[in-house]
Amino acid sequence: MPLGPGTTMDLDRHDFQLTELIERIQSNDNRLVALQIPEGLKMQALEMMDTIETETSAKVILAADPCYGACDLVHDKMGMMGVELVAHMGHSQMNIDSGMPTQFIDVTYDGEPELEPIIPFLEAHRAMARQRMENQPAPEDLSEEEAQDRFMDAVGRLAPLTGTKLGLVGSIQHLHLLPEYFDRLEKAGYEVEIPIGGARLSFPGQVLGCNYSGDDDSIGHYLFLGSGDFHPIGLVLHTGKPLAILDPYSGEAREMSLKHIERILRQRFGLIMACGDAQSFGILIGEKPGQMRRSLALRMKRILEKHGKKGYLLALEHVGPELIDFYPVDAFVNTACPRIAIDDAVRYQKPLITPYELEVSLGEKKWETGYQFDEIP
Ligand code: SF4
Repeated sequence: MPLGPGTTMDLDRHDFQLTELIERIQSNDNRLVALQIPEGLKMQALEMMDTIETETSAKVILAADPCYGACDLVHDKMGMMGVELVAHMGHSQMNIDSGMPTQFIDVTYDGEPELEPIIPFLEAHRAMARQRMENQPAPEDLSEEEAQDRFMDAVGRLAPLTGTKLGLVGSIQHLHLLPEYFDRLEKAGYEVEIPIGGARLSFPGQVLGCNYSGDDDSIGHYLFLGSGDFHPIGLVLHTGKPLAILDPYSGEAREMSLKHIERILRQRFGLIMACGDAQSFGILIGEKPGQMRRSLALRMKRILEKHGKKGYLLALEHVGPELIDFYPVDAFVNTACPRIAIDDAVRYQKPLITPYELEVSLGEKKWETGYQFDEIP
């Protein structure tokens, strides 16, 4: 979800790389093409449609529903309209097949923020990582209360660190900056790694709101090139490592507040506890191609049944309070986009938790291993 509503951007400094798309449409002689654009760039959509229709003989349909990621590719409904090619802008290809020929179009931003203001944060975070390396927690018997405290500690994970390297990551429109910043940070005395993640990620250093799979034990802290708190929150929840943020749009240098992460963890704790007495659950299955976790949803239903509880499988394209709050169940487990439960929890009348959180609530997973982020691999 790199370009969301509210992101402050100077659109003239974005490069919307349409040339390759236009060449493909011309060589295929496509007649009907769909354009899918993230929310923050939609105001440019009509201009792009004009450009494509002027340069080619294709007509363009804008897929005007909200789009927050490459998980959300338009699929069969565009096929039913006779669309021959989907042009998906601003996100990279994932390990999913929408069933439609799709061209992914990069959008890059040319801002290069100064490194100097971020250095004090990196120094402090490297010191935290070194301290954590020296005081590796040994496996121990914790009381229930101590285990719950560990769960709510933003950087209290048990996973051992084998190094204190600086992980350099970014959101997609700034990834072209990483090699240059890698060199600059190495010159400034940091041992830097640009992490390479799993199949859901296309580029080194890329992070998604639901996937931080490049993380490894040798990385002790992170620098994120991008704006907003969306990716930083997920990265710290997932890794339990401190994170500095350098915003190429504004040049601002800051850190992800660990207090903010601990507030989220306390909220997750409260929701897990609130689900303890729940007898019936709605289990949400996302219909978007990159959010569909049918097997996970079925596993949740089996686990609930094992504990004598009811689970109803509910499939939705979009998840929102107005679409689920009225069902007569006690709580919901969400297997669609993991960020809905984390970022939008307060919008729902009933507890909305992740599959991992359900397992903690049922005693299938332990508090003391620290919070586990619900990653889509
Ligand atoms: S599943 Fe959610 S976090 Fe992941 S890419 Fe899609 S919208 Fe973003």
